[in-house]
Amino acid sequence: MSDTQKNITCPACGNEMSKIFIADKSINVDICENGCGGIFFDNQELQEFSREYDDISEIEKVLSNKEFTDVDKTKTRICPSCGTPMVKAQANGTKIDTCYNCGGIFLDNKEFEQVRFLFKRKEKVKQISFEGKSEIDIRSFCEEAIRENSGEDTQRINSALRALRRLFF
Ligand SMILES: [Zn+2]
Ligand SMILES: [Zn+2]
Repeated sequence: MSDTQKNITCPACGNEMSKIFIADKSINVDICENGCGGIFFDNQELQEFSREYDDISEIEKVLSNKEFTDVDKTKTRICPSCGTPMVKAQANGTKIDTCYNCGGIFLDNKEFEQVRFLFKRKEKVKQISFEGKSEIDIRSFCEEAIRENSGEDTQRINSALRALRRLFF
């Protein structure tokens, strides 16, 4: 796993992001604590928080009771880890800034909850067909997102999603 050690600048608002060490997973998550409240996940880090029982309290603690600045979500963000323009991959109405080069993912304030909710929904679906398994199927989440995306950017978004899926599996 490529965990960025250097301090990075928020791709949405330009503030320096804080490194929050998640002890039980031994990873650093970058949070825009003093700006827009966005979160940057290095390659595969989001996967670490995709199961319902994953502890997200350390992230919530940083984000709770704070006012965050508004940002323009339609702007193309530049990956803070590798400098590649990020692609907006849409899944169930949530647009996720994804870097198809390094696998980084940027979530705006509140999007983390939305993504967690989507994963939770998937989990329920899966529990019906595969009893006892509580892993959320990010592969099918990505496949659904690929189906949902349309328009001229489809090809670019789809290649980003395929890259994302490759990173998860
Ligand atoms: Zn920010
Ligand atoms: Zn990148």
